[in-house]
Amino acid sequence: MLKAFRNISKTDLQVASDQLWKLFAPHINYLPEDKRKIVELAFLQMVMAHGEMRRKSGEFYIVHPVAAALTLTDMIHLDHLTIAACLLHDVPEDTQVSLKDLSRDFDREIIFLIEGVTKFSSVKYKGEKRYAENIRKMFVAMSKDIRIIFIKLADRIHNLQTLEFVRPDKQYRIALESLEIYAPIADRLGMNEFRGIIEDLAFPYVYPEEYKELVAKSEVEIERRQKITKDILKRAKTILTDKKIHFIKTLGRAKKYYSIYKKMKFKQKKLEEVYDLIALRIITDTTERCYEILSTIHSYFTPLAGRIKDYIAEPKENGYQSIHTTVKDNISGQIVEFQIRTAEMHEYAEFGAAMHWAYKDNGSRYHESDFDPAQYKWIQDVVKIGKQRWFVSNQDYLRRVKIKLYNDRIFVMTPKNDVIELQNGATALDFAFKVHEEVGKKAVMAIINGKPTKLEEKLKNGDQIEIITNKKQNPTIDWLGKVFTSNAIGKIRTLLNREAREKERK
Ligand code: MN
Repeated sequence: MLKAFRNISKTDLQVASDQLWKLFAPHINYLPEDKRKIVELAFLQMVMAHGEMRRKSGEFYIVHPVAAALTLTDMIHLDHLTIAACLLHDVPEDTQVSLKDLSRDFDREIIFLIEGVTKFSSVKYKGEKRYAENIRKMFVAMSKDIRIIFIKLADRIHNLQTLEFVRPDKQYRIALESLEIYAPIADRLGMNEFRGIIEDLAFPYVYPEEYKELVAKSEVEIERRQKITKDILKRAKTILTDKKIHFIKTLGRAKKYYSIYKKMKFKQKKLEEVYDLIALRIITDTTERCYEILSTIHSYFTPLAGRIKDYIAEPKENGYQSIHTTVKDNISGQIVEFQIRTAEMHEYAEFGAAMHWAYKDNGSRYHESDFDPAQYKWIQDVVKIGKQRWFVSNQDYLRRVKIKLYNDRIFVMTPKNDVIELQNGATALDFAFKVHEEVGKKAVMAIINGKPTKLEEKLKNGDQIEIITNKKQNPTIDWLGKVFTSNAIGKIRTLLNREAREKERK
C-alpha cells in the first residue's frame, strides 16, 4: 500500500486528490451506499481543508489521512463514522477549518470523534505539560468513545511508516512514545495486529543496535524454522483430514521482531528457546473442536510437560482466547507451539475491541452492544489517575499511566529465596520498598546475583537481590527517578513530605 502512495502526484493537488480517491474508494465497498457518501464528503472536505499543505516527505498532506483510514478499512472494516473521522482527524489541528465549520456538514458523532483525536494547541500549554495534558485528554475521550483510539493507532502507524523524514531527536521521541503508550494500549484492547505493527516500526528507532543484531541473528533461524514448520503443518493437516476432524485453515506465522526481542530480554531466553518463533495456528469452527484437535495433536506430537495454556477456559485479561501447546516433533526434533482457536477467537486475537465496530464479510454488523465496558475498566482507572492533580509533576502522571498500561510482571528472589512479584520495569530500590519500607528508606546499594549494583538497576526475572542498608540513609527527591512502581513512588513521596513538614516545624 505504501508503494501505491509513492505514485500519487507530488505536483498537482487536483490530480493527487483524484488519484487518491480512486485508490481509496474500492476499500470502502463493504459499506452501504449512503454510508460511502458520507465518507466521500469527508474526503472532499479534508482535501479542501489541507489543500496544498505538504508533509516532511514532500508529499501532499492529504496522503496521510487516507493512509491512516486505509489501515482501518483494510484491517477491520470499521464503521463509516470512524473512517470519516479518521479522514478529517488533522483538520481542526492543522488547518484554518475548525470543528465548528465541520459540524455544519457532519453529525455530532463524527465531530466528537475528531475532537477526541485533536490535540490541544501549543498556545494553551507548553512542553511536557502540553504532552501530559494531551495524553490526559486522549484517555478521557477514549473512555467516552473507544473508537478514538482506533484512529489514533492508525494515525500513529502511518507516522511511524514515514518517520524517516522526521528530525532524528523527534524520531526517537515518537518511536519511544509508540512503544510506551500506544503499543500497550493496543495490547490491552486485544488489538494484537496493531500492537505488533507499531512495535516493529518503532523498534529500530528506539533500540537500533539491538534491532540490527536481532535481525541478523534471527534471519537464518526463522528461515530454518519456516521450512520445518511448513512440513509439520502439512502433516498435521493430513492427520486431521484423515481423522475427519473439521478445521477451517492452518497458518504458520513468524513472530514479530519486537516480540522476539521482548521474550529473549525479559524471559532470558535464547533464540533457539523461543518455540513460538513460528506459531502454528489451527483455526476451526467450535470450541469443542479446539479440544478435539488438541488431543489429536498430542497423540502425534509429544507435548512438553506444563506447556499447555488454555486461554479458552481462562482468557487473558484483554480477552484473548486460544489453546497453546508446546510439542516436540519427533521427526525433525524441533519443538514448536501450536495455537488452536475458533475463527471468531482468531479475529478477536488480531483486532480485539475494534471487532465490535466492524462490518462482517456478509455485510452485517458486529453489534457494538456486545461491547462490554466492564472489560475496559482500566481506561477509567487511567482517567482517574489523570484527575489526581496533586501529583507534583507531569512526569509522575505519565509514569503512572505507563505502569497502569503494562501489566507484565516479573518474579525476583530475596537472599532467602522468597519470591517477590514486581512490575516489569522495577528497580532494586522498588524491590527494597516492596520487601519493607524500612529496608527501602535506608537502602544504599544492592547486590544482584552476587554483584554490587546501583539502586536504580532494573531487575530481570529470576534475579536474586540483597539490599545493603545504612541507618544514616534518607530518601531524597532524586529517588523518585530511581523507582518504577507506584508502591515505591507513593512511599518515597510520603517520606519526603513528612521530612519537609518536620523541617518547617523546626
Ligand atoms: Mn495525523
